[in-house]
Amino acid sequence: MSASEAISGWREIVGEEHIASGAALADLEANVSAFPARTVVAVVRPGDPGEVEEIVRIARAHRVPLYPISTGRNWGLGSRQPVQDGCAIVDLSRLNRIREVDESARYAIVEPGVTQAQLAAYLEKHAPTTALNVTGSSPNSSVLGNLLERGTGFRRHRTEEVRGLEVVLGTGQLMRTGLWAGDGPRQLHHYRTGLGPNLDALFTQSNLGIVTAAVVDLVPRRDDLRMLMLSFPDHHLADVVDGVRKLFVQGTLRSLVHIFNDKRILAMTNSHEVTTWTGLVAVDGTSAQVDLAVAEARSVLESGKGAEVTVVDQAMATGANADQLISGLFSVHSGKPSTAFLEGMFRSVPGMEPPEDLDDADNTALGYLACMPVVAVEGRTARELVDLVEEICTAHDIFPAVAVNPTGADYAEVVVNLYFDRTDAAETAAAHSCNRELHRRLYENGFRFYRVDIENMPYLTDVDSGPWAAVQLIKSAFDPDHILAPGRYCPS
Ligand SMILES: Cc1cc2nc3c(=O)[nH]c(=O)nc-3n(C[C@H](O)[C@H](O)[C@H](O)COP(=O)(O)OP(=O)(O)OC[C@H]3O[C@@H](n4cnc5c(N)ncnc54)[C@H](O)[C@@H]3O)c2cc1C
Repeated sequence: MSASEAISGWREIVGEEHIASGAALADLEANVSAFPARTVVAVVRPGDPGEVEEIVRIARAHRVPLYPISTGRNWGLGSRQPVQDGCAIVDLSRLNRIREVDESARYAIVEPGVTQAQLAAYLEKHAPTTALNVTGSSPNSSVLGNLLERGTGFRRHRTEEVRGLEVVLGTGQLMRTGLWAGDGPRQLHHYRTGLGPNLDALFTQSNLGIVTAAVVDLVPRRDDLRMLMLSFPDHHLADVVDGVRKLFVQGTLRSLVHIFNDKRILAMTNSHEVTTWTGLVAVDGTSAQVDLAVAEARSVLESGKGAEVTVVDQAMATGANADQLISGLFSVHSGKPSTAFLEGMFRSVPGMEPPEDLDDADNTALGYLACMPVVAVEGRTARELVDLVEEICTAHDIFPAVAVNPTGADYAEVVVNLYFDRTDAAETAAAHSCNRELHRRLYENGFRFYRVDIENMPYLTDVDSGPWAAVQLIKSAFDPDHILAPGRYCPS
């Protein structure tokens, strides 16, 4: 392995101003989670997919592993840090073209550097009958990195939106999936898989390729959109989860539900009067359809389930007297990125305030770790999980911000956020120990995970009985020299 020869080769491809190495890498070490900094040999910033192909070929020739990032805001799970030492980071933020938007067919073809804010603004202007499925992360975070991490927007799971991927494999070859692999006189993005195996899924939470573009499904803007807010005390959590499942099964709910505990909501409001749990979900359609959904949701969740249901419409969320929290929450449900959650994160540690540049999370005193187990949408089991999380966190003197997010009738993604003061060594150590224990004890108790940070990844890929042997076979074909993201969602 010769990193210096690889760096010289990359420099010729991208130009001096788009590569950093040596002392210029010092600012990479800081990360909001206070994970030990990985040794990174260079950061290379290609300007187009052709340069990505060249970078991979050089990496292969010199056996220097690469770790691709889109905009690098994988906060809580590793930020820009690779899983293992010795990688060069391929920062794809210069690939920021919205290549195409088809309003009537409702898709956008975006490159990795395209941000939520960029795509949302473009759609508002050029394709107003569509909307982006927005996450609670920064407006400047990417659509594609979130998709590849198998992230979740406020309307649905991001992976439901993939209509095709353009990928550079570890061999240096560029390929496209599904019908996009060929060409033809007609639109190619109406049928996701094409003939044969569906390859899209191979590239999310994987280290089999560097994705240089994705065809992403857009949300149709319907006549009416309202946001339901559910408020309920702790002893009704299981009832509400069961009620939400019923609403999904009967077809009343079609968008993902977020259920936040008070720690998460209190950080976003000046009010001290929130109930223990706050649920949020968009209902949309014609006004008659929405009226019916609201009535159904009220009937299922209020009587017997103990939730109070408040309905927020566009006028209430955007009027002159609108509550700032409500505006931010309505905004993300209706396709407009918001900084409300990011600002809330900074306020989660007493005495801390958001920095001027909210995207500078890696360089403030705030510490943030995330543990992400998945649970069936089944009240009793969700309750057991939350109780176990609270027991472990209490033992570490931590009050976690918890979200239980049913994506449909089958599973809820749970987010356990641990916040701490990174300048306090004892607090930092307690948070890390708590996060380790959360992963181990939840696993021992039969819970499994849907996303994982770079520190706990080796533990989970080791204990988890995934189809790893088959993955290794695919890896040897797609990346014969194992130069792509070693250790990422894969046993090393
Ligand atoms: C306040 C707050 C709110 C958040 N809300 C949400 C939310 O609602 N939903 C959610 O899902 N997440 C959320 N997050 C987590 C995170 O910030 C987002 O997932 C964010 O989109 C990830 O950053 P990114 O887009 O820059 O992706 P990146 O950090 O660039 O990418 C994520 C990972 O994907 C892989 N990757 C990236 N690009 C490529 C590529 N082109 N080819 C191959 N592999 C690649 C890399 O391993 C990388 O580490 C939140 C975080 C915070 C702090």
